[in-house]
Amino acid sequence: MNQDFDVAVIGLGPAGSLTALLLESYGLKVIAIDRDQDIYSLPRAVTISDQGLRIAQTASIEDIYLSNSTELGGAGFVDKDLEIIGGALDLKGVVTSNGWMPSRMFHQPLTDKAIREKLQKTTATILLEHELIDIEDETTHVNFSIRDLKNKSDLQFTSRYLIGSDGGSSTVRKLLEIPQEDLNYNRDWVVVDIELKGENRLDDKALQICDPKRLCTYIPSHLPYRRWEFIINEGEDKKEFLKDKKIKLLISRWLNPDEYKIIRKAVYQFHSVIAERFSKGNCILIGDAAHQNPPFMGEGMMSGYRDSMNISWKIALIIKNNFNSQLLTTYEKERKPHAQFVVENSAGIGELMEAYAGAEDPNQVPADLVAKGYGSFVLPNLDKGLFYGGKANASMGAGQLFPQPVIYKNDEVIMREDKVLGNGFALVSKSEISMNKQDKKFLEGLGCNFVVLEDRFTENSHWLKKIMELDKVYLIRPDKYIYGCTTNKVSLEELIEDLRLRI
Ligand SMILES: Cc1cc2nc3c(=O)[nH]c(=O)nc-3n(C[C@H](O)[C@H](O)[C@H](O)COP(=O)(O)OP(=O)(O)OC[C@H]3O[C@@H](n4cnc5c(N)ncnc54)[C@H](O)[C@@H]3O)c2cc1C
Repeated sequence: MNQDFDVAVIGLGPAGSLTALLLESYGLKVIAIDRDQDIYSLPRAVTISDQGLRIAQTASIEDIYLSNSTELGGAGFVDKDLEIIGGALDLKGVVTSNGWMPSRMFHQPLTDKAIREKLQKTTATILLEHELIDIEDETTHVNFSIRDLKNKSDLQFTSRYLIGSDGGSSTVRKLLEIPQEDLNYNRDWVVVDIELKGENRLDDKALQICDPKRLCTYIPSHLPYRRWEFIINEGEDKKEFLKDKKIKLLISRWLNPDEYKIIRKAVYQFHSVIAERFSKGNCILIGDAAHQNPPFMGEGMMSGYRDSMNISWKIALIIKNNFNSQLLTTYEKERKPHAQFVVENSAGIGELMEAYAGAEDPNQVPADLVAKGYGSFVLPNLDKGLFYGGKANASMGAGQLFPQPVIYKNDEVIMREDKVLGNGFALVSKSEISMNKQDKKFLEGLGCNFVVLEDRFTENSHWLKKIMELDKVYLIRPDKYIYGCTTNKVSLEELIEDLRLRI
């Protein structure tokens, strides 16, 4: 049948906007819908990780983040007197294998606005003040109904796939009757953003303050902004915490009231929940619609970015190359365990803060809680999915991110060159390789880039040097995860044949 669109993206928060941009960049016909006219105005995401920035590069929005953000200096758990009690991290000058610093603090109203403007300049059809109200999933396509909130009329569309990026109380998730699992961290916190009036004299490290009287997180946002998050203890009145007088009292330990103005404030219940399924039929959940975690790890939006990257290239490959939609089953296989790790470890930070606050001596805090809290500092590789043999394999690098090729000058990264790998698959080797015509044609059909990695990329990057020294040929997916590489047991022909069968 004739479809109106290849993909419908429901919800234009960070996850939906990125997905619409990526899908459109792959040449798909996209409709993107949001019930609100304006971007979200309350305080929410503030940190973008190294992988987040690398994903942003794929959608050419990294400059939007760079021009509205500041590098995070470090992080740690401190006691009520702000003395370090654990997990101290100094992040200055660190460059990860993704080619970026571990974390940058951004001002979301500026980035969201610029990303929305960029999306509005693409070929995607954007409907604001329109709300999804119904979905009928057929085998080959999805019929869906949209309410025009301004004109009070209903519209019908069809698309090959429908993506629910409609946030924590997702209509898509509810219409699909997908239950959520509650992972049992539910606490009320007040979140406050302030704008400094004068010069900054506050720390550039994020602090988890384990004060038994009141847990608190301090975040050195992009100047002139700063953020605090305070737990609302049991029995306290949430409404009180939105009053400026109360907020000023809470911040008084750091700043005098005449030094800043409060620009945004909100009380949230920090949740940890995960949808039982990330897709059903032709509908897919991404972002907060699929998983929500307390913000201590600063990874909620990042999980949404990973979902978006993971699903976008797979959908593009299916539609553009007429591949079997079975490929989409790898989305949940790859993303759910990873997102669950983020949810559990984010809650782990909250639990560790509570344990530190309750302990007379931080060394008495149980090791499993410490491991869970600090576990969040290193994210896992992908485990099962579209990899050689269908699962991660350390000797083949399968499931790991391939390092970004970068150029250094005076110990600083001056160029990030993922574009050398391209936005499709890449076959990367140290020197020219020969391959049979049939394999070459198959890879070319996938839009694969054949890359002989120049020495200038391996000279200064210890990440790439280490991996390329092994003299293997790497097959890399469009999201920069390694599909697999040649070994003394697996030839290039076998590696490519395995991909052919799985895709
Ligand atoms: C205090 C706080 C701090 C945080 N800090 C960080 C951080 O530092 N780093 C990080 O990575 N994450 C952070 N997070 C998490 C992050 O903000 C969220 O994960 C992210 O905003 C979710 O994005 P999303 O696009 O999935 O959903 P949302 O941003 O919630 O967007 C959903 C969109 O869908 C629209 N919508 C809903 N229903 C419909 C419908 N029926 N029809 C049409 N449109 C609809 C809504 O209008 C909305 O625009 C934080 C969260 C909080 C609460």
